[in-house]
Amino acid sequence: MQSEIIIGIDLGTTNSEVAIVRDGRPEVLAEAGEAILPSVVGIDHQGRLLVGQPARNQLALAPERTIRSIKRRMGQEVVISLGELKFTPQEVSAVILRTLRERAERVLGLPLKKAVITVPAFFNDAQRQATREAGALAGLEVVRILSEPTAAILTYDPHPRDQERLLVYDLGGGTFDVSLARVEGGVVEIQSSHGDVQLGGDDFDQLLLDFVCDGFAAEHGVDLRRSAAARARVLRAVEQAKRRLSDFAVAVVEEEFIAERDGRPLNLVMEIKRVEYEQLIRPLLARTLGCVDRALADAGITARQVDKVILVGGATRTPLVRKLLEERLGRPVHGEIEPDLAVAMGAAVQGGLLAGHNVGPILIDITPHSIGINALGRLGAEASPYSFSPIIPRNTPLPVSRSEIYTTTSDQQEAARITIFQGEDPDCRNNTVVGDFLIEGLAALPAGNQVLVKFELDASGILTVTAVERATGLSKQVVISSAIERFRTTQRSDAVDRLEAIFATMNDPGTTVAPGEDSATLRQAVESAKALHARAATLIAQASAENAAELRGLLLELESAVLNRQEAEIRSIQGELEDLVFYLEDV
Ligand code: AMP
Repeated sequence: MQSEIIIGIDLGTTNSEVAIVRDGRPEVLAEAGEAILPSVVGIDHQGRLLVGQPARNQLALAPERTIRSIKRRMGQEVVISLGELKFTPQEVSAVILRTLRERAERVLGLPLKKAVITVPAFFNDAQRQATREAGALAGLEVVRILSEPTAAILTYDPHPRDQERLLVYDLGGGTFDVSLARVEGGVVEIQSSHGDVQLGGDDFDQLLLDFVCDGFAAEHGVDLRRSAAARARVLRAVEQAKRRLSDFAVAVVEEEFIAERDGRPLNLVMEIKRVEYEQLIRPLLARTLGCVDRALADAGITARQVDKVILVGGATRTPLVRKLLEERLGRPVHGEIEPDLAVAMGAAVQGGLLAGHNVGPILIDITPHSIGINALGRLGAEASPYSFSPIIPRNTPLPVSRSEIYTTTSDQQEAARITIFQGEDPDCRNNTVVGDFLIEGLAALPAGNQVLVKFELDASGILTVTAVERATGLSKQVVISSAIERFRTTQRSDAVDRLEAIFATMNDPGTTVAPGEDSATLRQAVESAKALHARAATLIAQASAENAAELRGLLLELESAVLNRQEAEIRSIQGELEDLVFYLEDV
């Protein structure tokens, strides 16, 4: 019998990938030669779902119907609007996960039900729960949530000649993690981990966006950030310029007709030098090096004791990252495995291990946060109810179970509410709230009734709480209230139905064609649309305000149809635009 396949998914801020273990080796699955799925979801102007590159293509044209970097919102109770439709962050992530699951099913020709999904090491409990929830909505049982840097380590040799200490520096689109691991005799032991869930390549884009928009405003007196469409176009252009700056000393940002002033179109043309860009991002990179220092201190080793430095995440292609890291650690960094694919491959290795294959090292992972509760204690010289009492300290190997005894403070106390925090600050108020739990139905006893509270963190870093009243031995009801928990019990089946209906729109006739599959007639339509677009754009400046507005509207629609490769749509808008162009050229 063929054993079960557990797919590995890197659910990235910018890009996502799916991998499996085949013939004992991890392999990222590609379709039409494309392994990377941009983590972008959108709804096109006909209400159909777009995922990946087609959604990315419409980002600049229809930012109100498109969402990127959803990973940054995971675990938050926010509503994401895509046109008329409303989603939770986990629903948007579910769309990406389901697209990857279906890709893997097509490539392998098998139904797939189980996955390992990676998250930044520094994701907290709510963010991990949200990721697991997204998996469930995508029809997947998430058998393990795995930290990204840990996944990357699983792709390296688990049997080095001597014990090795690895440092993984993982800088993706939205998050930064650093982990230290000891590898010996087929066992990978994570020793410490640090990071910042709000720091990544997206922030570099943001700095460049401001740099370019400030320059444009100084020259033309127009702030491009005020128009959602112009802002989205500049953002896309600076992201591409940023990538070019990894290879070249200078990059030019160029966008035609990005704005207008006094009825005249304005073009954006700006040169960015690598040295200027490096000045912008230096403070952010200094923050990452601060995390590296803390991870080294936690593992109790010096920079000199690190044997190998591994880079993970697209943003580590930035030359300054490598340079600063080599200066700090005094050794060259490794890049044998593609930084964009290492995490998905590691997730597949973990999936293979969980499915019972001998494909990689035994993994001992850790919790990067301390988890505990608020208690009466001292904060500096003051007595305070906000003193943080950690129950599981950070860097404890997973899975782990720890308990503490608490006592009631009043006679006949029937219930107690305790808040769980995650973080390192002695003052709870500076840590992250994981949830509340309520111990109910206590026996009618005098103050001092003892309750044993047990925290269990599973291998995915997800918390379960139980409480036992010592006098009666009874296990008491514990309710963790968090946004995700409420979502799970009340809305999951609704969400599944809604997603099912939205996915059905993808299979409508006229849906996008994958890149590289354009038919001859479509190519022809696109070419003539581009020629007409150029002609029409030159007429905006002379047209009356009303005609100019109509022209701009039609040009945007045409761009969208071209980007989405909708042949019938292109031809119909082209017809309308032609009429207007002929009329304007005549007057
Ligand atoms: P990841 O989340 O690992 O896919 O990383 C995506 C981030 O890497 C995005 O911010 C990309 O803009 C960035 N990135 C990708 N390629 C490059 C490159 N060649 N130079 C600099 N940044 C890059």
